[in-house]
Amino acid sequence: MNVINPARCSEVVGQVLLCSEADVEKAIDSAQAAFKTWSVTTAEERASRLRDAARSLRAALPDLTTLFVRENGKPLREAERDIQRSIELMEIVAADLPEWSKPVLIEKKQPVWARKRPRGVTAVISPWNSPVLLSFKRLVPALATGNTVVVKPASYCPLTVMECARIMRPHFPPSVLSVVTGHGSVVGETLAKDQRVRAIAFTGSTETGRRILELAAGSVKKVFMELGGNDPALVLGDAILDEQAINRMTNSILRAAGQVCIAIKRIYVHESRSQELVEKLERSFDRIVVGDGLMPETTMGPLNNKSQFDFVTGLLEQCRRKGLTVITRGRKLAPETWEQGFFMLPSIVLGAGDKDDIVRCEQFGPLVPIMPFKEEHEAIARANDSEYGLRASVWTARSERAQELADRLEAGAVFHNNHGIFQDLHIEFPGIKQSGLSRESRYAALDHYADIYGFAE
Ligand code: NAD
Repeated sequence: MNVINPARCSEVVGQVLLCSEADVEKAIDSAQAAFKTWSVTTAEERASRLRDAARSLRAALPDLTTLFVRENGKPLREAERDIQRSIELMEIVAADLPEWSKPVLIEKKQPVWARKRPRGVTAVISPWNSPVLLSFKRLVPALATGNTVVVKPASYCPLTVMECARIMRPHFPPSVLSVVTGHGSVVGETLAKDQRVRAIAFTGSTETGRRILELAAGSVKKVFMELGGNDPALVLGDAILDEQAINRMTNSILRAAGQVCIAIKRIYVHESRSQELVEKLERSFDRIVVGDGLMPETTMGPLNNKSQFDFVTGLLEQCRRKGLTVITRGRKLAPETWEQGFFMLPSIVLGAGDKDDIVRCEQFGPLVPIMPFKEEHEAIARANDSEYGLRASVWTARSERAQELADRLEAGAVFHNNHGIFQDLHIEFPGIKQSGLSRESRYAALDHYADIYGFAE
């Protein structure tokens, strides 16, 4: 299968094997054989191997970053940050591992200990929007706790994950970490069905997550799901809309051309501030330079693949046909080669109703609908009217008010005057409703990949 550069669709960045069911079964056979020895290594040994592998990845950072931009499209800085955070995660997990591994005395009268052992072959299935970090967030704790791992990266973006695995492999015994490529319907489904795969960590759309849950039920696998989102931002009447706030908002809407699970995907603004917010965001979107992520001037790259490009441009077409206002801003870096990539300028949509697709679905593109509200309770109800519950944000000058509204917003985490990620890699909160099933903050991430069993004296 060809992997193409979304900034110049005629360029083939690499080719990967379309694995068959039998190929995936072979990878599971080898992972199961390798588990026998890897599972009995000490936490100290696994931590040390992780640190060594992190060092080798760090040495390859510039090449990995370029490859990542060429297959994914995001600008250099964003791509480098994803890989850097993946490496940092290895170091953090290596540091936590010895303490986490110790048995915990949970009852003294009749001494009862909670002890940990690895579970077995673990499958990691990741999406194209952030394939490296989202593979590493699952595969690092899984390897660290003594499991063997088979990774299935996204079909559109498998190369950087494969290259990272190639660099890491000499630091681990054979078949402790393997990568299988190809179609989700063949490779992913085989992993989800196979009885020998004891746990599956999936990041991707809610629809695929549902299918994996069905298949995993056959062998009652442990599942870890981080799924889709349609995050609302509530801008209250007293919001501070200064330059920093508008920059943070723009960044959350347009980072990775909006192809981020945690991103502002709809804005509810108090009617008294609606016009001001639209004007300020227009000016901010004006500064966006859309082009090839490898060019230093680029602040927003292309969409990653044709199907996503067709979906997002189709949504905007639908808005225009319905008579909604579509305001498109930003600058084309190289207008003469614009048609060669999946490029889109950023847009604001006005006049959308709560039932419109642009508001209800996860658009995953560089656009945002802005809708005015009169009363805060009405804004909360509209924000919660979604199958998703990943993140939300409240923009107000009063932090107590933000906390009160956070209690009523159905989201795994709520940000005040910001909308993004936690800087500390130890901190994570799962999505709720149909956005996820997991816990991955610090030790919880390690617990997830282990069997925690009781031992009583
Ligand atoms: P996707 O669900 O289409 O694919 C994700 C992975 O699953 C890919 O590797 C794909 O090949 C594989 N797959 C596809 N069909 C499968 C099947 N039937 N069985 C098993 N595996 C299968 O998602 P995507 O389009 O790659 O990524 C975008 C989605 O991911 C968005 O919905 C986004 O919100 C979500 N996402 C969520 C998080 C989070 O942390 N909550 C993070 C990033 C992305």
